[in-house]
Amino acid sequence: MEIVFSSFDDSAARFRLSGTSQPFANALRRAMIGEVPTLAIEDVRIYDNTSALFDEMLGHRLGLIPIRTDLNCYIPQDHCSCEGAGCDRCSVMFTLSVEGPGMVYSRDLIPQDPRAVPAVDAIPIVKLVKDQKVVLEARAVLNKGRVHAKWQPTTTCGFKNFPVVEISDKCDGCGQCVDECPRGILLVQGGRVAVVDGRIEECSLCRLCERACLNTGIGEESAIRVKSEESRFIFVVEGEGSLPVGEIIHRALEYLKSQSDELCEQIGELSGVTEDDEENE
Ligand code: SF4
Ligand code: SF4
Ligand SMILES: [Zn+2]
Repeated sequence: MEIVFSSFDDSAARFRLSGTSQPFANALRRAMIGEVPTLAIEDVRIYDNTSALFDEMLGHRLGLIPIRTDLNCYIPQDHCSCEGAGCDRCSVMFTLSVEGPGMVYSRDLIPQDPRAVPAVDAIPIVKLVKDQKVVLEARAVLNKGRVHAKWQPTTTCGFKNFPVVEISDKCDGCGQCVDECPRGILLVQGGRVAVVDGRIEECSLCRLCERACLNTGIGEESAIRVKSEESRFIFVVEGEGSLPVGEIIHRALEYLKSQSDELCEQIGELSGVTEDDEENE
């Protein structure tokens, strides 16, 4: 298996994963979305809310604010010795006190732990007019995206099979498929159609080019054929700010490894094969 990055920074990454199967690629996608924990606001104690928003709406908006998460400092609540009561190993407290007129922003949430700040400081929460105010305490806890979408570390996380465009000798370079391609990745070159250099990954596998070719009256078979590679995938991952994208990918892979190790152990126990036996073989 091989991973080759074509772009990478803390907020987004694009990479090619090859030498694996579609189920594994999907497992990686699901692990990035649902198995990498982040902090998100779970409990809100409202002392005063004279804004136009109901308390429930306010709580909902607070829950969706991404919070920078240091996974070396926090553990998921269901693994914590406080048993859900909330302590500084599994949760972080925030206070917010704003009086109108003006907008309440995510930066108005003051964390007890200065590392756990809102990832984006200008997310509008509610607009206050004169004499309106919001005073509250909020508790963010560490949990996973499979429990609720507010704990997902990604905004975009998807993959597609690597596209392959084949041109047969029947192509006469009429250019009908070039006009039809919505991604603009085809061109006529030397009397035949070809893919613009370096743009094959942009193909959406829509096959409009094949249909355009058939509409030229070429016969039963199109001169351009679009296929997808079964074992090579293009991934796009964008983070919502709570974790750097590199850490999301790394932790998702670690999760898959730990799950498969566990499965191997259980199968080993059932069949009576231990790791020592395997090493001795
Ligand atoms: S429509 Fe068919 S024949 Fe015309 S350029 Fe495209 S592939 Fe070639
Ligand atoms: S499949 Fe769609 S995006 Fe890809 S080359 Fe054909 S028309 Fe363009
Ligand atoms: Zn705890």
